Amino acid sequence: MNYYSTNRKAPIATLEKAVVKGLAEDKGLYMPERIKALPQEFFDNIENLSFQEIAYTVADAFFGEDVDAESLKKIVYDTLAFDCPCVKVTDNIYSLELFHGPTLAFKDVGARFMARLLQYFLKKEGKKQVNVLVATSGDTGSAVANGFLGVDGIHVYVLYPKGKVSPIQECQFTTLGQNITAIEVDGVFDDCQALVKNAFMDAELNEHMALTSANSINVARFLPQSFYYFYAYAQMKKIGMADELVVCVPSGNFGNICSALFGKKMGLPIKRFIAANNANDIFYKYLQTGKYEPKPSVQTIANAMDVGDPSNFARIYDLYGKDHAAICADISGATYTDEQIAETICEVKAGTGYTCDPHGACGYRALQEGLKAGEVGVFLETAHPAKFKDTVDRILNDDIEIPAKLQAFMQGKKQSVPMTKDFERFKEFLLAVPNP
Ligand SMILES: *Cc1c(COP(=O)(O)O)cnc(C)c1O
Repeated sequence: MNYYSTNRKAPIATLEKAVVKGLAEDKGLYMPERIKALPQEFFDNIENLSFQEIAYTVADAFFGEDVDAESLKKIVYDTLAFDCPCVKVTDNIYSLELFHGPTLAFKDVGARFMARLLQYFLKKEGKKQVNVLVATSGDTGSAVANGFLGVDGIHVYVLYPKGKVSPIQECQFTTLGQNITAIEVDGVFDDCQALVKNAFMDAELNEHMALTSANSINVARFLPQSFYYFYAYAQMKKIGMADELVVCVPSGNFGNICSALFGKKMGLPIKRFIAANNANDIFYKYLQTGKYEPKPSVQTIANAMDVGDPSNFARIYDLYGKDHAAICADISGATYTDEQIAETICEVKAGTGYTCDPHGACGYRALQEGLKAGEVGVFLETAHPAKFKDTVDRILNDDIEIPAKLQAFMQGKKQSVPMTKDFERFKEFLLAVPNP
């Protein structure tokens, strides 16, 4: 299958090129040329299939032309070595828990898939070193670093904003060593993202080293996220709750919800979607006004959604033929202040016993406020609450337990390279890296 750029000024790319390059030459995002509808029998029988079986069917529709069946199956099955259960929170609200992977956040799915697919292409082509650049506001860095840790022929540079990532998140990518280098940027997330984007556009740098991105702009990261929407539907169908399903996605860069929208185009019977934002409400405003007006991000307690210019907006816009009314027909929005997020975490805990993380809390609240009679809601619990322990403890006046998996990271020694937000400095640093 070929991939085109959302800006339509770059050459058509193969899957391999789209995965290795990440961003198209015209700074657009790659989109698959076709989105295959899955057969009705698949949906009729979906509740009897395992997560891996469902995911393989979806993966085959996207990647089956480019990756042989056996390899693709192995990539999918290895990626999904953990469950994504739908857990009941209230009578009509369920939590799709996406935090049972190695770094306890949904980004594990895309990152693990991408690492394996990239390795497949490198082996096939007999290529040498590839360098992955990734900007993170927290969870991307840990998921990508752990997804790629120890993978031969790939070096990962994680750029993160100094002082704006929780200590628990930070240790998940600064303590790994091996083929992972953490870079602490004196700036905000958008500065990190700008450094990465500039690096991809810099001819001299690209001459010196093979660069690729593992941000949610990469097709190998964002498309696999559609797997768990199909699986959520299957779980809800199994308990007879899937007839009027509303899925609410706490959104920052909009990669996660975008993969859900691809699922819908493939025939996944989800009635409608809600994109829940924190105070960074650019998409919410777009829905209200039809105008997309990026602005600098503001810091919130749901920091993985502190994005002022969501990259994947370009994909959603393209997917819906730039039609505002069509977008509004499938997606509504919500935006919450830190106070509202905190209030929701308390209310859910007191009312149901369930502990939401600050991102999931936005999702829960949007359903609680927005569900209509007869509808059932699933919100994505995008990370384990313990990843935001300081915040959640303070709000709940509690001392929530840190899962052993997370505890293990906190034992390591932090190593990172300090960096300014000046691109020339970053370029010098990369040019000084010896390249095989
Ligand atoms: C990355 C992240 C989000 C936002 O996902 P996008 O795909 O960027 O919209 C939400 N919650 C958590 C915990 C995250 O790590």
